[in-house]
Amino acid sequence: MRTPDTSGSAAVGRVSLLKTLAALGLMLLTVAVLHAAGPVYVVMWFDTEDYIEPAADDAVMRIAQDLTSLGVRGTFKIVGEKARVLEQRGRWDVVRALALHDIGYHTDFHSIPPAPAVYLRDLGWLEGAAEFERREAAGALDVERIFGVRPSCFGQPGNSWAPQSNAALRHMGIPVYLDEGSHVGIGHQPFWYNGLLYIFNMGPYSLRAPLDGAQPAERSYAQFDRAASALAAAQGGVISVMYHPTELVTTEFWDAANFSRGAGRERSEWQHPRRRTAADTERCYGILRAYVAHMKGVPGVRFVTAREALQLYAGSAPAPAGRARIAAHMAVRQTFLTTGDGALSAADMLLALLGMEPQVVDGPAARIASTYPEESLSRAAFERARTDVVSFIRANHRLPAEVWIASAKLSIGDFAATLAADEGGSGGIAVRRANLEFEQYISNDSKGAFSWVIHPTGFSAPELLELGKLQAWTLKPAQLR
Ligand SMILES: [Zn+2]
Repeated sequence: MRTPDTSGSAAVGRVSLLKTLAALGLMLLTVAVLHAAGPVYVVMWFDTEDYIEPAADDAVMRIAQDLTSLGVRGTFKIVGEKARVLEQRGRWDVVRALALHDIGYHTDFHSIPPAPAVYLRDLGWLEGAAEFERREAAGALDVERIFGVRPSCFGQPGNSWAPQSNAALRHMGIPVYLDEGSHVGIGHQPFWYNGLLYIFNMGPYSLRAPLDGAQPAERSYAQFDRAASALAAAQGGVISVMYHPTELVTTEFWDAANFSRGAGRERSEWQHPRRRTAADTERCYGILRAYVAHMKGVPGVRFVTAREALQLYAGSAPAPAGRARIAAHMAVRQTFLTTGDGALSAADMLLALLGMEPQVVDGPAARIASTYPEESLSRAAFERARTDVVSFIRANHRLPAEVWIASAKLSIGDFAATLAADEGGSGGIAVRRANLEFEQYISNDSKGAFSWVIHPTGFSAPELLELGKLQAWTLKPAQLR
């Protein structure tokens, strides 16, 4: 028996069922479109660094638990001193909450001067890498000891970036560089640099919902949706989302309160940063939680950790490419080459032209000007030089700065261009000049790129950007599998 009322509600039921089906169809279509185009991965990372304010420990734990309850894993880059402080304070509850997430590294002391860019600015490539490791390796080992896992990634404190860290991190077994900065970048997506996977300089793909200010949540959500659609419509890619756990419990940075402008302050004189009220902290947790829930709800979006991101990319091995294609490219411009199958760095291509096995090598440690005075050189002299370059790379796992022709030198760039243009005839070989196009991916802003409240006033580091340019031989976009 049906009364008009129930038949009315059945009609309403049918309409809402149709609406649901239509919505579901649209959602499936969106999912299909996203999948057809490319996957969108969110790397959400937390610079876990405040070892002064104990409330920041609670913030780490709460964020880790909130993410876990949403089914999301984050990457927590931990400062060595922070890990030791958690141990001293007996905060095994925090350590346990983090065990479900990925663990990265964020220097031993973060802001106690001198910061990395300050202590590395006047050092070269090799001594800088050794100094970085001397200062920072112990903290990475403490993080590994306390969290039971080797850090998957590293990122510099503030804007205190230095390229020598790349060689040291590789040696320390840390394969991913995860941070933000303007020092180096390719197209606001991940790239390979000195054999590390860099998730860095992400531009419009570096996003967050602000904790303070007037921006409505909907605007942050729309911004995320636009970025996700743009990536999906291309080949897919990564969105980088970053917070500091301490931000949710304080209104000023713990380090700005103590080490501004590179000031040294004794431990007994450390000041606690100003705190948010309990209600304000709760409001911040709410913003973060809702933002994560929104991102997670966007069809086609997946959260990945730094460790997982490494698996998503097809490794740093060069894409296959024929010798003729490599030679034609390198004769004219020394920069990475992208093919349908991936990319090759200028260093990859130089190794291929030399007939060497693909391997991770560093760029040259210095820049020299060619002193070889002639326009051409004999095949015998060129073959000797070539053999010597192969020997240097085998011995040092980096490109030589100079290539000897008797007592004169060719820069490695001029040598590479000459090698690429050589068609192998029996006559003399014309010397070509380098066109180091890869240098355009390194910043020239030696002051702005290093701007950070913990650096000394007016700090600028053109030396580090110059070293970064030398290492750009190894630069190439990372290709999703
Ligand atoms: Zn930091």
